[in-house]
Amino acid sequence: MKALRLLCTFALLCASCLAQSQPASAPAPKLKAFRFGKLIDGRGKVWNDAVVVVKGDRVDAVGSTVPEGAEVTDLRPLTAVPGLIDVHTHLTYYWDANASPQQQGGRLPQMLVFLAQENARKTLESGVTTVRDLGAGDYNDIVMRDLINRGAMAGPRMFVSGYGLHVSGRPPRPGYVVPPGGNADGVPEVMRVVREQIGAGADWIKMYASSGTGFDVSTHQTYTYDEMRAAVEVAHNWGKKIAIHSYGGNGARDAVRAGADSVEHAIDIDDATLADMAKRGIFYVPTVDHNRYYIDAHTQLGYPDRQIPAVQAYIDKNLETVRRAHRAGVKIAMGSDAVYTMFGQNTRELEQFIKAGMTPTEALATATSRAAALMGMEKDIGIVAPGSFADLAVIDGDPLADITAVTRHVRCTIKGGAVVAGDCGKAK
Ligand SMILES: [Zn+2]
Repeated sequence: MKALRLLCTFALLCASCLAQSQPASAPAPKLKAFRFGKLIDGRGKVWNDAVVVVKGDRVDAVGSTVPEGAEVTDLRPLTAVPGLIDVHTHLTYYWDANASPQQQGGRLPQMLVFLAQENARKTLESGVTTVRDLGAGDYNDIVMRDLINRGAMAGPRMFVSGYGLHVSGRPPRPGYVVPPGGNADGVPEVMRVVREQIGAGADWIKMYASSGTGFDVSTHQTYTYDEMRAAVEVAHNWGKKIAIHSYGGNGARDAVRAGADSVEHAIDIDDATLADMAKRGIFYVPTVDHNRYYIDAHTQLGYPDRQIPAVQAYIDKNLETVRRAHRAGVKIAMGSDAVYTMFGQNTRELEQFIKAGMTPTEALATATSRAAALMGMEKDIGIVAPGSFADLAVIDGDPLADITAVTRHVRCTIKGGAVVAGDCGKAK
């Protein structure tokens, strides 16, 4: 023990010696400058003929002059907005376009992570540079996050949750052991499974507190208030936040009472719960647009025509709930709930928010500053300001006049000061 401590001290000393012996004239990283016709900085200011100066992966300055010696990428007359944040994805849900719905399962995790690069790439192409990924099998999300962070895979910054907690949903079969994953019934199991996700390296906890997924828009609450409360307490005790999935109003009410950090999907949230969310700063992530996608893609995904009216009715109620939440002052963040072939449409949710009564400025905030606040990363993402990550979506048009400039006209994406998708031309 003593020897180990000595060794540690020695190692520390050496590290500091090395740091001091670096030559003082080590070359500073070369400055990059990106010029735009317009910059919407995510802090309420619109800059004309803007220059964003980048040092390493961070913004060094925002202004109108190009520093001497900087490598310049002139993107005028295009507009830049902060790299967009999608707070509800499932990047590891891969769909093989050449296979039938019945042939999609059964891939080994290694294969899935490799194939899921396509989802990550399409997400970048939509201008999204950060995602909160809410549920994956086999810790594929943790692997993707780490590969992306070390530069071995192209993709958005991922904040992941491992297995989403869910209740038992099928009877036991003799001799067959269901892989445990996120299965948890009752307070002690919930507490254990939350701890398992944190131990595996999850950034967030995800809990499925109601039925409802794909073309199933049922709203039955599955977890009790006590189970949700236990999950919230364990997560918060470890400094982690928790997102609770509920398709219905009852589950949303108990999720809010239990102190969730965000409520996903829900329709029919009652007025008292909305008021409580506004007061306590609990986020609503409506994910209206994923049901639009399910209807559009239902033939490919193998969903029956007869369920379309129920899914459409859910969309209408979802929009109405967004309208009421927005009026009640609830913080709303953009989550696509993108799965399968929806990647690349990550930001279409903003068009739904306009339908529900938001101004373009308010809608854009749900994918920038508001989303950053949900992530607890207000100084790093969702803004373009000195010290923030140099994440930018470069678009054609003025999103404050027409939100489709963001949702459908992304030209290229810059993440950490590097062009990661689309065509930003050549630096000079
Ligand atoms: Zn989801």
